[in-house]
Amino acid sequence: MREARAKRILNVHRRRDPWFLDRYSVNPYYGCPFNCLYCYTRGIRYSSRQGLAVKVNAPALLSRELRKIIGEGVRGYVAVSTSTEAWNMYEEHYGVTRRVLEVLSEYRVPVHVLTKSPLVLRDADILRRIDGEAWLPPDLRETPGRGVLITFSFSTLRSSLARILEPGAPPPGRRVEAAGKLLREGFMVGMAFMPVLPHITDGELEEMARTASRVGARYVFFSPLTLYGEGKDLFLYLVKKRFGEAYASYVGMYARRSFPLRQYTGLFYRKVRELSEKYGLKIGVTGE
Ligand code: SF4
Repeated sequence: MREARAKRILNVHRRRDPWFLDRYSVNPYYGCPFNCLYCYTRGIRYSSRQGLAVKVNAPALLSRELRKIIGEGVRGYVAVSTSTEAWNMYEEHYGVTRRVLEVLSEYRVPVHVLTKSPLVLRDADILRRIDGEAWLPPDLRETPGRGVLITFSFSTLRSSLARILEPGAPPPGRRVEAAGKLLREGFMVGMAFMPVLPHITDGELEEMARTASRVGARYVFFSPLTLYGEGKDLFLYLVKKRFGEAYASYVGMYARRSFPLRQYTGLFYRKVRELSEKYGLKIGVTGE
């Protein structure tokens, strides 16, 4: 793992994300050692130029940048993280994500944890503090009304498939266990089945909904795969190599677009609505 010094750390988005409610994001690492085949960052030139590196000055930078925006009022959650896995295997050694959380706690900033890693359990003490003390924008005080949201993400629940699709990530079963543990500790925890891969993992939709219901997830997200830029070519090549039987469908669906055809997404979301009703799931943090 290379050690790097970042120039900036807090990404300020133009508007609040309607799904994840983040207005800001922090990525304590460049690149991501989980190497998910479908990851959108694989196609981003900047990320690949940087390679894999820990931003050793992330906590100090964040403190400086937060001091500037805090006077204007915090306008949403800080997502940790959006283009890396903040609780990756190197984090056990570097602890930079933990120190980032300490800074967010100091400034009472709400946090949306986006992760595939049970290592987040290590930081339950700081997350509990943020959950109790964070300052929420007025329109988020009632719903979701929590200083910390924790979303575990999955593209499949099958370990054998996960080993191919997400070779560096902890098995999905361990993520499900971690989600259950944090729920029992009183955190607001959800599950994001994103991306669901057409013709590869979309046969698991019912199992996904059943699992979320069994664990007691407070909200769920479902979304089919989007593909664009250089990442699209790379993923189509990998589908051809590893999931040959699905290749023709992928070319038909994605060759000229980033999102599957409306025919597919219509059926997908209809199925998701049916399953959500059947299993009593809430779609989205602020959804029904
Ligand atoms: S864990 Fe997230 S950031 Fe890392 S490779 Fe997978 S999808 Fe990309």
